[in-house]
Amino acid sequence: MQETALDFVIAALQKIRQTSDRLPRASRLSIERLQFVAPNKVDLLAPVRERVRICTKCPHLASSRTQTVFGVGNPDAELMFIGEAPGADEDKQGEPFVGRAGQLLTRIIETMGFTRGEVYIANILKCRPDTPPGSFGNRTPTPLEMQTCRPYLIEQIEIIQPKVLVALGAVAVEGLLGSRGTMRQLRGRWHSYSGTPLMITYHPAYLLRNQTPSEKRKVWEDMLQVLERLERPITERQRNYFL
Ligand code: SF4
Repeated sequence: MQETALDFVIAALQKIRQTSDRLPRASRLSIERLQFVAPNKVDLLAPVRERVRICTKCPHLASSRTQTVFGVGNPDAELMFIGEAPGADEDKQGEPFVGRAGQLLTRIIETMGFTRGEVYIANILKCRPDTPPGSFGNRTPTPLEMQTCRPYLIEQIEIIQPKVLVALGAVAVEGLLGSRGTMRQLRGRWHSYSGTPLMITYHPAYLLRNQTPSEKRKVWEDMLQVLERLERPITERQRNYFL
């Protein structure tokens, strides 16, 4: 059970009472302030997750999804990754970034010195974009779908309050900032989302399609900038790493 600051103060006052001739005093206001306990972020995220679970704001997606994909990781994370939307694997498992692109993202996270559970991962869209029956692959979410679902992501960011955000790919950037740009213009430099530093880099799926060392190195250089911003130690091996 979480102990309040008040518990510590009561224990201290009792000790003073036992060892001193003078009775300790505390004002009502100080006691009220001490009773305040910062809300737990897991508890704050739970009702948002529940609203997402039953959301039907996009009726076509609500009827085609297997389940919603809310987000995964540490609610106290200092680093949060944002992708565009769940694909078929994520829709099946209810977790973002679990397919091949997700495995590459996990490798990037681990090479940065984190575990997947230490960061937070979420998408702009919480439902898989529907595709025509019999078709393969995933569909890019539309601007309207992203605009409709975006408030949930904003709530997640406001609760988690990461020190750094990383947007993966141009679609995620459009969903987050509402503006489109080419990755050549956007990636590799700092942007800001509501005062939180935002790094934009390629989506891991792009790296799976384009295996050239120079593109992989670009993503890694973006992640080195993130580590610097988080004031994390960077080893020589990390500096010279190619994904
Ligand atoms: S995509 Fe988002 S807004 Fe649309 S139905 Fe799913 S959870 Fe609701």
